[in-house]
Amino acid sequence: MRFHVLTLFPEMIENGMNTSITGRAIAGGKISLDCVNIRDHAPERRKGRVDDYPYGGGAGMVIEAQPVMSAYESVCARTGSRPRCVYMTPQGKTFSQELARTFAKEEDLVLLCGHYEGIDERVIEKIVTDEVSIGDYVLTGGELAAMVVMDAVSRMVPGVLTNDLSGAEESFGNGLLEYPQYTRPEVWEGMAVPEILLSGHHGNVEKWRRMQSLKRTALRRPDLLESAQLTGEERKFLKDLLAKPEET
Ligand code: SAM
Repeated sequence: MRFHVLTLFPEMIENGMNTSITGRAIAGGKISLDCVNIRDHAPERRKGRVDDYPYGGGAGMVIEAQPVMSAYESVCARTGSRPRCVYMTPQGKTFSQELARTFAKEEDLVLLCGHYEGIDERVIEKIVTDEVSIGDYVLTGGELAAMVVMDAVSRMVPGVLTNDLSGAEESFGNGLLEYPQYTRPEVWEGMAVPEILLSGHHGNVEKWRRMQSLKRTALRRPDLLESAQLTGEERKFLKDLLAKPEET
């Protein structure tokens, strides 16, 4: 999987992505990162400037269409294709695990980061295939949002996580929130690890985890249960839980 980021701040992306799990994935060749500085595509006479005042007036500056187009075309020339181009914007579809799974199927993915008041709408119309938001708030630029997307997508790429199963078992992997996790010591500050986790009985542990997962989802994100695949026994468990949450 090859990420191409069109940005005014490549060092921000490189510093973030070359750290921890994504850093190891880049070093190990499981994913690659190509940052394209939009400023390098400014016309000669503008000496690296790529923003201008908005037509119609108003506060802030707008990134011009041509340098963005030229930055995208430079990626196309290198890849020999016209990759999916995701514009990070608070006006886009909210990012999700499902979207991460979809993006992970691409060989090349372009992430376009805006700044200031945003980007000239005309180039967005020309090159952008997806508009994605990471939540209902406004950031100063698209770089952090692009890193959120790349981090979540990278986890879906085979070989990025040491145990490929851990991605599938996590929250949203099966449509539910994950069960609680514990590690050593067995008793901490007078609080013991649930006994069942020490039993060594794999089947019982799995069952307990599934029920905990259902419980968390029902209490914290009941909306997720609408599309979750549940057995009759699980539905009954949830019905009892909602009737008497403290006893289940
Ligand atoms: N004027 C724009 C608006 O009201 O929709 C906001 C511009 S914002 C200050 C600058 C850039 O940050 C955007 O072009 C976008 O790339 C990025 N950005 C801000 N909030 C974001 C969010 N919630 N998700 C994804 N990108 C975001």
